[in-house]
Amino acid sequence: MNGQDCIFCKIIKGEIPANTIYEDGEFKVILDVNPASKGHALILPKEHYADIYEIEEDVAGRAMKLAKKLACHMTNVLSCDGFNLIQNNHEVAGQTVFHFHLHLIPRYVGDKNADLLRYTSETFTPEEMKVICDSLKL
Ligand code: AMP
Ligand code: ZN
Repeated sequence: MNGQDCIFCKIIKGEIPANTIYEDGEFKVILDVNPASKGHALILPKEHYADIYEIEEDVAGRAMKLAKKLACHMTNVLSCDGFNLIQNNHEVAGQTVFHFHLHLIPRYVGDKNADLLRYTSETFTPEEMKVICDSLKL
């Protein structure tokens, strides 16, 4: 999909309203309409890239730099106790809006989402781990 029917492209163009906390020439940062916690925000590149596979490396790098800045700022303002950065790609990984975005999720001691990232581990034999490791070496 290009950006034509993309809800985030519409937000970036101002066709759909959003609570914007930061904007520059390259990014817009909005509050998530279904926040996992108080302050849950999304970094949106203004250019439409579907996901991590499509986004240009330099843009992804600058998005992460902005995430670092905002995580520090939001932690100061919100007095949260920790922070999750989440970025989903493809439906199987939980992506629902197919315009690259980085979730900024402030975390609070005792918040409702203790299991936000908790997973059941899979088991691999040492041999299987070695095969996986060898196959992934860069
Ligand atoms: P993901 O599941 O990683 O693709 O995340 C998409 C996120 O976008 C979800 O957390 C939604 O709550 C959020 N979202 C969807 N529509 C809007 C909107 N119009 N304004 C703000 N956030 C939105
Ligand atoms: Zn888009």
